[in-house]
Amino acid sequence: MGANTQAFGQIKEQLVEKNVSLVAVSKTKSDEDILALYQLGQRDFGENYVQELIGKYNALPKDINWHFIGHLQSNKVKLIAPFVHLIHSVDSPKLLAAIDKEATKNNRVINCLLQVHIAEEETKFGLNKDELAEILAQGSVPGKDYHHTNVVGLMGMASFTKDEVQLQKEFSFLKSLFDKYVNGGENKLSVLSMGMSSDYKIAMDEGSNMVRIGSLLFGERN
Ligand SMILES: *Cc1c(COP(=O)(O)O)cnc(C)c1O
Repeated sequence: MGANTQAFGQIKEQLVEKNVSLVAVSKTKSDEDILALYQLGQRDFGENYVQELIGKYNALPKDINWHFIGHLQSNKVKLIAPFVHLIHSVDSPKLLAAIDKEATKNNRVINCLLQVHIAEEETKFGLNKDELAEILAQGSVPGKDYHHTNVVGLMGMASFTKDEVQLQKEFSFLKSLFDKYVNGGENKLSVLSMGMSSDYKIAMDEGSNMVRIGSLLFGERN
């Protein structure tokens, strides 16, 4: 099937207008598909699986920014710590601690997003708002406890539904948390990662500044 370069052009146009950045979600897709968008200037790609990401990192140009967007186990952090650009899916204090430890070993600072649970489904990972408050609270502010992780924003996945009102509600909830911590002082949050192929327009209307789009760019996954 291959990458849909026409869709890429159209989506880019919509995003540039609103200053929204694009993570092209390439999980399960081939190196060739990734290179097709790379050749059009795309540098940010998102992956969900550690082993797959490592294979692609080794095979593909070194100026790609690799985003890790899937559920991440603490014991696998060391495998991606040498090169990962942004981890979107930090959903526990334990994982943040593991990232800081591995980043330290690699003499890097790793940028992270805290994943917030905004969907109705229980299956999706993420912090609730109290857990988020705790992890962002004084004392666990990276830069105090942690010198090798930077929490730069929030990420959320909305419910799997076509109900636009529901989607709006979930995205605007995340935006309100984002605003609260942006304005609230010590945490320098700037990235709000929300919106996928089916809901990115709604997410953008609700204030997203980073969307993660896979199937519209690369075709449906098996
Ligand atoms: C797969 C995935 C996406 C992209 O999904 P599409 O519907 O293919 O755009 C975005 N975010 C996360 C966390 C994903 O796992």
